[in-house]
Amino acid sequence: MSRTVRKDDRDCENFAGGEWRAPRSGLSLDVTNPSTGAVIGRVGISLADDVADVVSRALDAARPWAETPIKERVRPLRRFHQLVERGASDLSNLVAMESGKTVAEALAGIERGLEVVEFALGLPNADVGGALDVSRGVSCEYRREPLGVVAGITPFNFPAMVPLWMFPIALAVGNAFVLKPSEKVPLTACRLAELMAESGLPAGLFSVVHGDRRTVEALVDHPGVRAVGFVGSSVAAKSVYVRATTLGKRALCLGGAKNHLIVAPDADEAITVKGVVDSFTGCAGQRCMAGSVLVVVGDAARFVAPIVAAAKSIEVGTKMGAIIDAAARDRLARAVAKADSDGATVLLDGRDARPPPGGERGHYFGPTVLDGVRPEMECAQVELFGPILAVIRVPTLHDALALERESPYGNATVIFTTSGAVASHVVDHATSGMVGINVGVPVPRDPFSFGGTKESKFGHGDITGPGGVELWSNLKKVTTKWAPSKDANWMS
Ligand code: NAD
Repeated sequence: MSRTVRKDDRDCENFAGGEWRAPRSGLSLDVTNPSTGAVIGRVGISLADDVADVVSRALDAARPWAETPIKERVRPLRRFHQLVERGASDLSNLVAMESGKTVAEALAGIERGLEVVEFALGLPNADVGGALDVSRGVSCEYRREPLGVVAGITPFNFPAMVPLWMFPIALAVGNAFVLKPSEKVPLTACRLAELMAESGLPAGLFSVVHGDRRTVEALVDHPGVRAVGFVGSSVAAKSVYVRATTLGKRALCLGGAKNHLIVAPDADEAITVKGVVDSFTGCAGQRCMAGSVLVVVGDAARFVAPIVAAAKSIEVGTKMGAIIDAAARDRLARAVAKADSDGATVLLDGRDARPPPGGERGHYFGPTVLDGVRPEMECAQVELFGPILAVIRVPTLHDALALERESPYGNATVIFTTSGAVASHVVDHATSGMVGINVGVPVPRDPFSFGGTKESKFGHGDITGPGGVELWSNLKKVTTKWAPSKDANWMS
């Protein structure tokens, strides 16, 4: 049975053609609050039939939308922006409840997401194509065209922001967008769908299909889906990329990370300590831009003690949120035990974290600092996705950059220094897609595009900014020649 209003805001059904509908598969999963362990909702799992239903409604909506002028297409996004701003407090609480992050972190993610909406709102003025008389009587022209129905598959750690990286631009350039959110955080996606419907976007242009890996595979395989944006772990990113591109589809798949924070001996202590601690503990380390390997060069080892002291003072449950689920928390505990047995020194042990009152059944892990880490250890190589900092001591900047270069990941690299020459050398030689100078989490702000390199990104281009415009559209090149007419034509 379908309805235009959700029957229950805990029940996550698919949203297609402006209607809510439970997946026909009859499968579903509990949604839990990581901070308390309480069940807060239920999410349907969609299989191929359900995906086909969602995509066919999106296809119906995509055709007239492609013919709608871009100035009209961005109007609903303007109203959506207002609705999100007005409801930011409720939306932040929802994001925090299902992802475990703090409300302040949830709000920051929403604000970042709104910057992408603002970028999309500017496209009618910025993306006007181009035309030129290339020889006498012959002109060439660019026309940007939408692809049709496109899909976005998103992770648990930014329930609002990562979808917002994708759908404002995809819709503005004229596509219908199908969101497959993480099954761990489906409530925010449902709320985004309600807000898009309230914004006046015609039915069918923004859809949500809930589910797991099977849903992703059905969505990628569906012949009506022309392009796929993916954000999640590298294993899944690579598999989605290979699957989509084998079918001849466009795909941009962002994966995991192991970000190196390099500290030079001349670094400013206050900026460095705050920058490093915010980077590895923010969102409880569950950010693809979190620093996870601290490479201290020579005398910079003196910064380790104040970093440990600052991290130790972070109150778990208030200043730092929860880990997404028990499996993830247990994985972090195993990683620390392994680092310990491999010879690292556990300077600060997050396994000892006490949950806040009311959080006894939640999933908490405190800030953790592992010193004396060797580059080949698991804690230096594998994305742990928690508040764990592996400290590697090296004698020279050259050695620090060699570690960064050998990493299979390439999202972010940061240098803390007071020297412009050192900063410039690191920018020149870093292999990551995003580099920070004295900025612990160097997320580019719009209109600068977001995207890494190596195993942190499969595909070309970036997900936001001008990269997003290229991802979700085609440039048609039109070359025109008209026969010169000596005589007056019918218009004269
Ligand atoms: P995940 O890969 O487990 O899930 C991401 C999405 O893919 C979900 O919607 C999930 O249902 C689906 N999925 C899971 N396994 C799949 C598979 N084998 N095939 C197809 N689809 C699959 O990731 P997560 O645990 O939700 O999120 C954390 C990961 O996301 C981390 O690795 C983090 O670094 C990464 N991440 C990367 C960026 C970036 O911009 N590079 C941003 C945020 C998160």
